[in-house]
Amino acid sequence: MSDPSSPPPLRPPSYSAPAPGDPPRQRGVSWKRALAICAGVVVLALVALVGLGLWERRELRRELDALPTYGYTESPELASAKAGIKARDDRTARIGQVISDAMAGQSAALLGGDKATFVGYAAPGYRLGQTWLTRSFTSLRAMGVAQWTPKVDSWTPYSGTRWQSTIDVSYCFVAGCATPSTITLHTMWDLADEAHPRMTELWEYTGGQATPPWAQTVLQAKVGSRVIVAGPAATAGRFGAVLAEAEKAAKVADRYALTTTPSKYVVYLAGAKEWGRWPYGEEGDWVAGYAEPERESVVLRASSATPSFLPELLRHEMGHVSTLAGQGSKVKYADAWWLVEGMADYVAAEERPFAQYSDRPVTISFVRGKWNGDLRVGAPKKKASPADANGRYGTAYLGVSCLVQQYGRARALGFFHAVAVVGSPLTTAATEQLGVPWTTVSSTCTAQIRRTAH
Ligand SMILES: [Zn+2]
Repeated sequence: MSDPSSPPPLRPPSYSAPAPGDPPRQRGVSWKRALAICAGVVVLALVALVGLGLWERRELRRELDALPTYGYTESPELASAKAGIKARDDRTARIGQVISDAMAGQSAALLGGDKATFVGYAAPGYRLGQTWLTRSFTSLRAMGVAQWTPKVDSWTPYSGTRWQSTIDVSYCFVAGCATPSTITLHTMWDLADEAHPRMTELWEYTGGQATPPWAQTVLQAKVGSRVIVAGPAATAGRFGAVLAEAEKAAKVADRYALTTTPSKYVVYLAGAKEWGRWPYGEEGDWVAGYAEPERESVVLRASSATPSFLPELLRHEMGHVSTLAGQGSKVKYADAWWLVEGMADYVAAEERPFAQYSDRPVTISFVRGKWNGDLRVGAPKKKASPADANGRYGTAYLGVSCLVQQYGRARALGFFHAVAVVGSPLTTAATEQLGVPWTTVSSTCTAQIRRTAH
């Protein structure tokens, strides 16, 4: 028997016999208790670890303190290497300054008209460099160069006392012009005497563009208020007449500049020797001139620039310069040839009606014959006949005329700028600038071209 005052027999505290009908229970501790036990174990372990760590650190500190102390002495090899690196860095910085000072001196000589100093930076035996510098000095001075700002971009040792350096030059013909032209010069310098640095190699890099005519040919020039006319001596007899027409053309072209007007237009007159060599070298037979908006310049084939054709040719090419706002070759005119050339011809036509358009007959026959009805007229092939080439220009001109007539001058210019300068797709530019879908623009202007050229 059991004593009634004695406590009941011990049982596992968390365990109770399942009541009949209860679902079977798992034997062992409850999950809450297990969690509490685990947490307790973890905390204890952490405390132990932290304590052990502190003890070890204190022991380590004691051992370190007991060690004798030593002063740090740089090895002679390391000191020598460090001194060598510093000397090299100092020399590199100094050489950069020497080249920069030389280029600044050369710039001052150019702007001050000191040819001997400008050319004198070429090494005495370096004839090609002397020729390049003499030619450039003569041409740029004749054209009234007003800014020549070199910036040394990089310089590295080549061998011995020779260093190579890349120099970016920005220049223009009006002091403080908004959009200077640029040219990159690759140079080699002999710096045996750093007080007299001398170029031993010089060549210009234009990033795929043609070398500017002033660097290729000794030019003469005549400078007007908005235009500079320049060309080889053989064309100098025409400078006066060309300048008079070009000044008039500049007034017209300026009216189509949407953002900035060019500081000064440069009109290069290419003689028989220069045409095909100055520019890209592969102009079609039908080409009479071309524009380089990025340099605010145009090149005219002197033999094509007859007195009767000259005014229109100037307005067309200078129209490219003003409307393309210096973008030039940076923009890929994927399907905007018609827009770029149509706009230039629109400037050239001075908004006269199609009845007075110079290439009216060939335009009509092109529209009736070869034209596929697409407003996006493609460029003529290099070997195209003058009739085919002029027919395409005329159709493009009618396309741009339609834009102005249907949507207004301001909207049409905005559309042009968005596509040809900014590079927006036709569909985006049509909606944003003209307020209608491109399909509407296309069908409206295609129909108008067919009605006009009948
Ligand atoms: Zn053109």
